[in-house]
Amino acid sequence: MGRHHINAYLLLGRRPVVVDAGTPGSGRRIHDQIAAHGVDPADVSLIVLTHGHIDHFGSAAELRRLTGAPVAGHVADLGPYRTGRAREPYLPTGPLGRLMARNENLHLTVPPVEPDVIVTGETGLEDFGLAARVMPTPGHTAGSISVLTDQGDLVAGDLIATSLFGLVPGRPANPPFHDDPLRNLASLREMLALNPTSLHVGHGAPLEPERVRRWADREHRRLSRLAAAGRLPVRTENGAA
Ligand SMILES: [Zn+2]
Ligand SMILES: [Zn+2]
Repeated sequence: MGRHHINAYLLLGRRPVVVDAGTPGSGRRIHDQIAAHGVDPADVSLIVLTHGHIDHFGSAAELRRLTGAPVAGHVADLGPYRTGRAREPYLPTGPLGRLMARNENLHLTVPPVEPDVIVTGETGLEDFGLAARVMPTPGHTAGSISVLTDQGDLVAGDLIATSLFGLVPGRPANPPFHDDPLRNLASLREMLALNPTSLHVGHGAPLEPERVRRWADREHRRLSRLAAAGRLPVRTENGAA
């Protein structure tokens, strides 16, 4: 569905680290792409899952089997990882999300995965051969995390997306869903404050931090207006409110 429709990343340090594992049934394709980049898949030291949506962890169990690498995921998304189901309902960020929420593929059960490394806070990846840190960036889901390399590349999952799944290169946009839009925006701003050089997203081509900063200011005003009008959807214990 296009070159940047759903992304997985290969980070090259002393040892390679993979971020995200695509939809179910993509394990072989990701494995072959790792090899196509001149990296022995058996050398992969870690598979980091940015969050518990099935287009990001759908092939995690398969990719672990194919590479032998452990899987890392945040404790707050263990429910989805262990059941193979995303937390429901998905909370749309706008018309695209409302349309997509009806797509039954989003509600599939995928092969569950028990993370070998359970992330509970900021975590250095030196032990896995990569000069980078895993940063908790909750909001899109409670257990959303990003990977920030020492060189300044931020692999951001669905913290931010490229407009219309990458169809409008360079333009930041919300992904179709956020469990907690305000919390997500706060996480995005925390990451921008660390001055990343580039944002690599789950859907679409990379984004320039300066452009995302301006987008975040506009989004802050938009969410504030919605919140003031009592029209901001936020997940509660029992679903959506
Ligand atoms: Zn997501
Ligand atoms: Zn996604």
